[in-house]
Amino acid sequence: MTSAARASDPAPASNRTSAVPAPGDRCPCLSGETYAGCCGRYHSGAGNAPTAEALMRSRYSAFAVGDQPYLLRTWHPSTRPDRLELDGDLQWRRLDIVETSAGGPLDGQGVVRFRAHYRDGAARGIQEETSRFVRVDGVWLYLDGE
Ligand SMILES: [Zn+2]
Repeated sequence: MTSAARASDPAPASNRTSAVPAPGDRCPCLSGETYAGCCGRYHSGAGNAPTAEALMRSRYSAFAVGDQPYLLRTWHPSTRPDRLELDGDLQWRRLDIVETSAGGPLDGQGVVRFRAHYRDGAARGIQEETSRFVRVDGVWLYLDGE
């Protein structure tokens, strides 16, 4: 972000997690692609994540940009919460995919182990989780994690 853009941005710092990246910004999942060419096309509904890992990345990015509707609609109905509150103080900084099992375009289920790095004020932390995904009518959904 340029200083000019920052100066003209009326959003207070505490609202930054709800700021959606510009299409040409790098994707929050740090794939190296632009937001529009990576998770942004799934968030917008232009396409569905083709693999469990792609869904995992797009859900991480949804946490990073504050896209609750995307998180809810990619959550399996059997485990989906009625509503979701995101902690606006958390800044998601980096995603590491540790291991994936199945979850390909022809699989019915998949498992992705990841580490998500965040900053909470001055503190840093890592959320490590093994997430399970299922494919329903060709669409990958998050089932649960531990
Ligand atoms: Zn991405």
